[in-house]
Amino acid sequence: MSSTYTTIRSILQTTSLDRVDAKVLLYYLIHHHYQWPRSYLISHDLDVLSDAFLKDWVCLEAKRQEGVPVAYLTHTRYFHQIDLIVSPDVLIPRPETELLVERGISTIVDFLHANPMRFNSSNRLNILDLGCGSGAIILAIAKQFQKSPFFAHLNFMASDVSPSALKVAQQNANNLSLSDYVQFFESNWFDQLPFEQFGIILSNPPYLSSNDSHLQMGDLRFEPLGALSDFADGLSAYRLICAQARQRLLSGGSILFEHGFEQAKDVQAILHKESFVQILTEKDYSGLDRVTFAQKG
Ligand code: GLN
Repeated sequence: MSSTYTTIRSILQTTSLDRVDAKVLLYYLIHHHYQWPRSYLISHDLDVLSDAFLKDWVCLEAKRQEGVPVAYLTHTRYFHQIDLIVSPDVLIPRPETELLVERGISTIVDFLHANPMRFNSSNRLNILDLGCGSGAIILAIAKQFQKSPFFAHLNFMASDVSPSALKVAQQNANNLSLSDYVQFFESNWFDQLPFEQFGIILSNPPYLSSNDSHLQMGDLRFEPLGALSDFADGLSAYRLICAQARQRLLSGGSILFEHGFEQAKDVQAILHKESFVQILTEKDYSGLDRVTFAQKG
């Protein structure tokens, strides 16, 4: 690409990238190079761009053409009203995971209402996100409660087995001014967690089986394999978590899982086997079974 008279308009006319991807990457670059707002993609689309800008554009365009996810190129992802940093050490938060967040929030509110006066600032209700990755789930939930009178009655905890994922999660907590309210633990599921009883446990564990063809497709090829697959039948994390969750939950407490669209029956069966009650599955916004939750009876 010649650097003479190259403009946003000429890039958008000539690039082979998907138009939305190209615009997101261009916005990232105009913000980085010129601190321009997003609207300048339209109102300044005939301004001549600098050589430094064009060098970065050529590099990002090539990486995207190789398949690198846009979120890894811009280092950010918007998820349930919060901006998150993402890196190849963490899964890119998916829109369907917002359903787990929504159900988590309503389950916390229901539990507090069902137990009036039980929790206060010295006896808090513990909320746990197992396998937190970027921290998307626990941070989105904590952010929703931050301005509510309930906030002081809640204690947010999250764990991940990957120290590099936890660094990203901690950085996200700092950026969102939540680092005083969310504790992160390096732990293989419950193994290294302090012995607490939890009111609500949430998890979006690795659920693709080792031979799932999606692992070789699209953005997934660039995401951490250990966050996507259990290297077995896709259900081993649910078995492991459910086997230990009962003794870590308060009576009437809830467990909530995201799972693959064909796994609802299997996850329900695992919960049933571990004597959970009120087992329900909800569909995501694409109409696919996505979240299953249950109570400790
Ligand atoms: N939802 C992801 C996908 O199929 C998988 C995430 C996970 O394994 N927890 O793309």
